Amino acid sequence: MLCENCRLGTTVEISLTVGGHLVSLVSCSHCDKRIWQADGKGVEVNHVLTMANGMRK
Ligand SMILES: [Zn+2]
Repeated sequence: MLCENCRLGTTVEISLTVGGHLVSLVSCSHCDKRIWQADGKGVEVNHVLTMANGMRK
């Protein structure tokens, strides 16, 4: 996929499960833009970390 940020690089999507949520990380090899998505919605990385922390309880 073409990067929406720089429109020069291509993005790589990595999917993982964090705290029972499907989380995707889309990262661009050109501008290093990282987009996190949880359950199909864009989220801040802090939100992902919060979900990961909840897993350790
Ligand atoms: Zn980019």
